[in-house]
Amino acid sequence: VSTWQGKKVTVAGLGVSGIPAARVLHGLGAVVTVVNDGDDERSRTQAAELEAEGITVRLGDGSSLPAGTELIVTTPGWKPAKPLFLAATEAGVPVWGDVELAWRLRGPDAAPWLAVTGTNGKTTTVRMLASILEAAGLRTAAVGNIGVSLLDAVLGDTTYDVLAVELSSYQLHWAPSLRAHSAAVLNLAPDHLDWHGSMEAYAADKGRIYEGNTVACVYNADDKATEDLVREADVEEGCRAIGFTLGTPGPSQLGVVDGILVDRAFVDNRHKQAQELAEVADVRPPAPHNIANALAAAALARAFGVPPAAVRDGLRAFRPDPHRIEHVQDVAGVAYIDDSKATNTHAAEASLAAYDPIVWIAGGLAKGATFDELVERSAKRLRGVVLIGADRALIAEALARHAPEVPVVDLDRTDTGAMSAAVREAAGLARPGDTVLLAPACASMDMFANYNKRGEAFADAVRALAERA
Ligand code: ADP
Repeated sequence: VSTWQGKKVTVAGLGVSGIPAARVLHGLGAVVTVVNDGDDERSRTQAAELEAEGITVRLGDGSSLPAGTELIVTTPGWKPAKPLFLAATEAGVPVWGDVELAWRLRGPDAAPWLAVTGTNGKTTTVRMLASILEAAGLRTAAVGNIGVSLLDAVLGDTTYDVLAVELSSYQLHWAPSLRAHSAAVLNLAPDHLDWHGSMEAYAADKGRIYEGNTVACVYNADDKATEDLVREADVEEGCRAIGFTLGTPGPSQLGVVDGILVDRAFVDNRHKQAQELAEVADVRPPAPHNIANALAAAALARAFGVPPAAVRDGLRAFRPDPHRIEHVQDVAGVAYIDDSKATNTHAAEASLAAYDPIVWIAGGLAKGATFDELVERSAKRLRGVVLIGADRALIAEALARHAPEVPVVDLDRTDTGAMSAAVREAAGLARPGDTVLLAPACASMDMFANYNKRGEAFADAVRALAERA
């Protein structure tokens, strides 16, 4: 009889992680109750399906703790300050996220995890890493927000040698016993502060990824906050701190020398100084922040023992996902770039740094961010700005303060059609040789279902513009 037999588990939240977790736990013999805040059409349909399988669902009340609960498995997005969790703490009931559940359920011979977190670049880095591991002939998968789900990866029929795992700060918050083989924090900038409560709490949750690492803690040598997290982490004996930098690497670092990605951390006896891994031109797109992602992926792969040639082959085989600095097309000598995935200021700053001159399309939901630094650092490269979305006034004010001479078109619209108007306005501001860049620095949900839809609206508008030209 498994330890799950008859155990009373409350699953917090229907949805992409809650529903599979409820099914898996029910399958193990647990007595599962799903609690959900919403009570709409969609949740009722989902609830009916689960109830038919023997799982109890309570709609419209995600706050009170069901009597007898021995464990809560939560959707990572639920805020720690929720009454449900306060009640759990009081009653001594443990709370696991989806990652903790997967970690606990993995088998004794399970594949080790190479884990990646950071404010930006997680998905890209994890996909680069999986591509490199594949090039080395390893059975692997990119696991997390895209690709295979964690539960499928640990419970499915496929056997893996190693997993490339993307972890958000939310997931790390709820994953107390996770121990990765090696892990990387790519960068650390304010994001989701409304959820975590403070920058310190956000950083502490990101830093959890290093706890108990056995081989390498990979940090960004150009972002001191990530190095501090390594220093504070409690790791296994012999676990090394490995840095990556866009500059010349020091000992125990990977970096860039004369357009070559080099490794000074995992050198074998024949190459005492440094080993060449790949050329900058092997990385797509070769924007600086993306080179940093490639170095982080390479560091994790090297920590797992992957040879340099596989790093090069894996990077060459990698193709970026849509809406991440995606070149839509040129119209009248102007390049149109879709970086709809730039949903915070740190991401937008990275893509603004990659072009010059730029007509910038920005705006959406600011999530509590401020725009002064971003605008100040990018002002020189701006030909003009077109603003859309709910919080565009915050960006307009920052522009007035730091770039008063840059022309700004404030569209004052949040309807879906605003994107084609924005593209037309941007075309009016741009000159041949310029780049029109959608890098909103904001979330999309004020105008679109998600960033994909926003990027598609942009690309459609660009194609319509090309037809008229
Ligand atoms: P995540 O999974 O962390 O959201 P993605 O790989 O999907 O990251 O990239 C999100 C956005 O962040 C991209 O559109 C790009 O603008 C930006 N970005 C990617 N890598 C970096 C990086 N290393 N530093 C800063 N911004 C980045």
